[in-house]
Amino acid sequence: MKVHVIDIGTGLATFIEGPGFTMLYDAGSQDDLADGPDNRVLAYIKSVRPDVVAIDHLVLSHPHKDHLELMPDLFDRFVVRNVWDSGTVNRTRGYCRFLKKVEAEQGVQYHDALATGGIHSVAFTGKNCSGTVSIPQAAKMTDQPVTIGPGTTMTILYRNADPHPDPNENTVVVRLDHGNNSVLLAGDAEGGGRLTPVINAAGQSVMPPSPPSNGTIEKELLDCCAAMLKANVLIVGHHGSLTSSRKPFLEAVGRRSTSFPRVRTLTARRSCPIRGGGRASRPRVPVPNGHR
Ligand SMILES: [Zn+2]
Repeated sequence: MKVHVIDIGTGLATFIEGPGFTMLYDAGSQDDLADGPDNRVLAYIKSVRPDVVAIDHLVLSHPHKDHLELMPDLFDRFVVRNVWDSGTVNRTRGYCRFLKKVEAEQGVQYHDALATGGIHSVAFTGKNCSGTVSIPQAAKMTDQPVTIGPGTTMTILYRNADPHPDPNENTVVVRLDHGNNSVLLAGDAEGGGRLTPVINAAGQSVMPPSPPSNGTIEKELLDCCAAMLKANVLIVGHHGSLTSSRKPFLEAVGRRSTSFPRVRTLTARRSCPIRGGGRASRPRVPVPNGHR
């Protein structure tokens, strides 16, 4: 199993490939909105896997632009077999375009946290994307592992379609297991408000050891399924923001260090013919505490 964290500007797009499957967890950008073949996610996948014709599992963690905006174009290039969407509605142009593509995709299985066998129906009235979209719901998301390839399972550790003031609270948190390897995709899961870093005895800027607040996804995950959080790789929540990655959460994932440096965002980049390739090929230095 190979995990690619794609540089798409401000946002998240994670492409996972393994024996017999491809998966994309989010494809959004807040500031790189080129679409069509110039879409950075399309260009990246084409560069590393020109043979890929289908995305077997497309996961939208939550309907925010920085996770969603580059997703509709994918349907023009790839067959999309399964869509996993929290089901929470954000009446934006991006979410409208996304649902219209899902609606038009032949044979797609659409899964949300709401129901099995019903219709996910949303009316949009925006200037640039409007109308009612109706999508048949396949099997609802559960906490049961789904086999996505030989020896590979996806477990949805958190899903919530209830309306929240901030769609971050609807983030679909996914765990992937392949042999002894496990990856946790935390989307924009949070642990509370923004913390103020403190300076420790060694003069380092560290996260204060606060627990996650009640009602947050990190707290819910620790309460429901702490043992399932242990993973080799964590794609940190909320882009490495100070709202996320509380000490008990990181400990449950498996961090062994006794001091907790501020989470650093490290974007892996590789040289490939992507639009704006100068940026894409430049080695990246970790950005301290970047909310990128
Ligand atoms: Zn985000």
